[in-house]
Amino acid sequence: MSDNNENMIKIEKLKEIIDKSKKIVFFTGAGVSTESGIKDFRGKDGISKYTDIPIEILISKSYFYKHTLEFYDYYKKCFNCIDKKPNITHYFIKKLEDEGKVLGVITQNVDGLHYKAGSTNVVELHGTIYKNRCVDCGKEYTPQYVFNSEGIPKCTCGGIIKPDVVLYEESLPEKAIYEASKLVRDADTLIVLGTSLQVMPASSYVASFNGDNLVIINLDSTPFDQYADLVIHDKLSNVMEKL
Ligand SMILES: [Zn+2]
Repeated sequence: MSDNNENMIKIEKLKEIIDKSKKIVFFTGAGVSTESGIKDFRGKDGISKYTDIPIEILISKSYFYKHTLEFYDYYKKCFNCIDKKPNITHYFIKKLEDEGKVLGVITQNVDGLHYKAGSTNVVELHGTIYKNRCVDCGKEYTPQYVFNSEGIPKCTCGGIIKPDVVLYEESLPEKAIYEASKLVRDADTLIVLGTSLQVMPASSYVASFNGDNLVIINLDSTPFDQYADLVIHDKLSNVMEKL
């Protein structure tokens, strides 16, 4: 069978699964955002290419407090995606949500693009660049304020503003963990998009899924491919445009 034929059969199977599913949960990773022009961590134009310091150190909690200016130099350069727009994948999820088929979206991305596309129930496991808070008084600031500030963004009280993005050495927000676990438990279909599922917690959510259909769509293979009911290795937009 030619690759093309095999792909067509997989697309048909995906359509069938979506058709009969009533409670779909999407789990999305960097691959969903790169097609909007957002940098991933370790890809060809990934944010790790913009520094000699390992990103596990550079975007860690201790580095933020000890080297706040250096942290912000890098953060402003690599995390500013407020002008980026959702793509076909974000809008496809939103369309299914409008049809009443989607329980929610769990995302590892911090770019807020699922919200921009109109999705309403989004669990942002790693936080978001859209929320920023003064570490002293808790006052909230817009991402525009943070990205446009000179040097270290400061609160009117004089405190440092910290983005609500989960840094290395920080644990994931408890509320997000709780909501994500609940979504996975309640889903009849879990569709994983654009993540290689190599790291926690992504892998733990997929491992705990007990519903009818596990679908994985990612450019590269993942450790969970062998357990999935359907696996497609392709660019997400190539798949989405056929649905
Ligand atoms: Zn303050």
